[in-house]
Amino acid sequence: GPGLEAALALIADVPDFPEPGILFKDITPLLADHSALQAVVAAIAAAGRGADGRPVVDKVLGMESRGFILGAPAALALGVGFVPVRKAGKLPRATYAVSYALEYGEATLEVHQDALRPGDRVLLVDDVLATGGTVKATVELAEKCGAEVHGVAVLMELGFLPGRETVGAVPVTALLTV
Ligand code: 5GP
Repeated sequence: GPGLEAALALIADVPDFPEPGILFKDITPLLADHSALQAVVAAIAAAGRGADGRPVVDKVLGMESRGFILGAPAALALGVGFVPVRKAGKLPRATYAVSYALEYGEATLEVHQDALRPGDRVLLVDDVLATGGTVKATVELAEKCGAEVHGVAVLMELGFLPGRETVGAVPVTALLTV
């Protein structure tokens, strides 16, 4: 779409963050630019549209916390609601939980049990697909709710990691692969 390449060029490389040896992709300069933000949100929302341009999902799921920033406006663009997927202990009512392995230790993601209805079609949104652990856990949460995962949309995919293989059969749309 118009301006998407210029938008993606605003992502900044930060060496040695959060640890030595990691090249962190900082999306905050992109978020701060109105036309860049608009182009990226439109492109992410497009992953929730059919060939005729009409929305084919009932909800957008965003993963804490940069998935909230991109997912909520994508939901608005599609004319559907937004569901937050949060780290353990943040959601106040009954949740489903899925734990997954990190490089060191374990992480748990949760969703409210009544956030989705059986048969709901959902689009998952996050900023970065790295190892794929976050997306895989979110797919499992959506399935626990009885929802059907239409696809995953991310701003950026780290192509040197096996994120897509980890995610499996769910289609992944990445605006940029590095
Ligand atoms: P994964 O579970 O696929 O290994 O990691 C993806 C999660 O880590 C995403 O929620 C994403 O926000 C975060 N993440 C990993 N690497 C980066 C990075 O270089 N930049 C940003 N902005 N987020 C990252």
